[in-house]
Amino acid sequence: MRFVSLFLNNRLTIAPEHLVDDPGLKPVPFSELPFTKPPPLNTSFVFDESLQQILHGKLLLLDELPFSIETLHEHYENGFIDYQVGVSRTKYGHNCGRCGNEKDRLFASFSCYRCKSETCTYCRNCIMMGRVSQCTPLLSWTGPKVQWSGENKLEWDGKLSSGQNVASQRFVEQVGLDGELLIWAVCGAGKTEVLFKGIEKALQLGLRVCIATPRTDVVLELAPRLKKVFPHTMIASYYGGSEERELPAQLVISTTHQLYRFKQAFNIMVVDEVDAFPYSYDTTLQHAVSRAVTPDHFLLYLSATPSRLMKKAVKNRKLSCVKIPRRFHGYPLPVPKMVWSGEWKKRLERGELPTPFVNWIREQAKSGRRAMIFVPSVSILKKVTEIIRGMVEVPIDCVHAEDPIRKEKVEQFRAGEIQLLVSTTILERGVTVPFLDVAVFGADHNVFSESALVQISGRAGRSKDDPNGQVIYFHYGKSLEMVRAIKHIKEMNKEDNS
Ligand SMILES: [Zn+2]
Ligand SMILES: [Zn+2]
Repeated sequence: MRFVSLFLNNRLTIAPEHLVDDPGLKPVPFSELPFTKPPPLNTSFVFDESLQQILHGKLLLLDELPFSIETLHEHYENGFIDYQVGVSRTKYGHNCGRCGNEKDRLFASFSCYRCKSETCTYCRNCIMMGRVSQCTPLLSWTGPKVQWSGENKLEWDGKLSSGQNVASQRFVEQVGLDGELLIWAVCGAGKTEVLFKGIEKALQLGLRVCIATPRTDVVLELAPRLKKVFPHTMIASYYGGSEERELPAQLVISTTHQLYRFKQAFNIMVVDEVDAFPYSYDTTLQHAVSRAVTPDHFLLYLSATPSRLMKKAVKNRKLSCVKIPRRFHGYPLPVPKMVWSGEWKKRLERGELPTPFVNWIREQAKSGRRAMIFVPSVSILKKVTEIIRGMVEVPIDCVHAEDPIRKEKVEQFRAGEIQLLVSTTILERGVTVPFLDVAVFGADHNVFSESALVQISGRAGRSKDDPNGQVIYFHYGKSLEMVRAIKHIKEMNKEDNS
């Protein structure tokens, strides 16, 4: 859309081209407007409450707001909305006002019907959330804040393990203060319950809380659990395709990508499973987190496998940390076994699997226990699955990231309708199934990093009825990452005894 700048009530202001009937004004793409101060707040203006609820704490495109441009601009004129440039030109190139991208290769130009420019530049980095270009403004709410109701009681009568309790206390103490804390909890420690009391305190103080996680699966799993224990709280989940975006929610569960839609919204941000964050190279994610929080805020990181940089920050006392080395049920983590299985790549080319692996599969099929078999790449996924299918008579299937029925297959696996599930590393986290053993086929491959192997191993033994699942790394030469993963698991178990 094009905008014009004009003098109105002795003030330089801006307006969408079609709302001003003056052929003498030159319409330009939004990013080319001169700088103007937003109009002051007119407290006698009767604002639209549904607009306030949708836009408060957000940064949205015009297309994302189910209101006419007339309504939106009227709110701007009265100081309730601000416009911000979508894509702006910088000294070295461009900057995306939504995701913070500044990489040249992640911008492109197109012939734009909205601003009638042949070269309207847009951001490719956040394109999956709708196009932000030089002519698209981003809108935020500058009117009064949404007031949350005080009814936010936690309704949960579960009990925390002693490790969970220590971490929960630390979080509760920090609620209402600034700062950051890492909760380093082994896979299966029950980290969600650790959040309950801190979230309750925050909600009751009228603070707004977000739990951000890299994966949609986790959003889908967490949202119903939190809705159950906070039945009186407005809770919304945000992921690609979610339908709760228009809810004025005090507690938000979001994928890290969807954080781009928020601006100064949250007093408390829980960053789940982002092992490298905030010491990673993913600057756009840091940008999203830092913009989504209010100037005073508390950041809580949850991880089973913090990155080396993060561990270093803990060691140097730059980052406070509380560990939960023990699983919820009190049993230690199963320690992986390494099994040499020769040149698995060559074998596979001949349509065969290594003998130790074949023997294990046969035993597994006979035992009736479920197993997840991780393979290093999609390219060998089908082949491995087909060969196993020819060997044993039990139900077997495979999943990968792009699999359209991945969710259904995981459900079938949970329900016991699939006994052997072959997967790429996509299922290294999150899936919790009792009576499960785990194998890594080609564990020496470089996709299997220390943290991936620790996460994969963490799938086994999660239930108190079956705390000792097997974990086997089938390999053609131990990798450093395999050795590190096993050391990591043993150290957590040792800490547990001390
Ligand atoms: Zn962007
Ligand atoms: Zn344009």
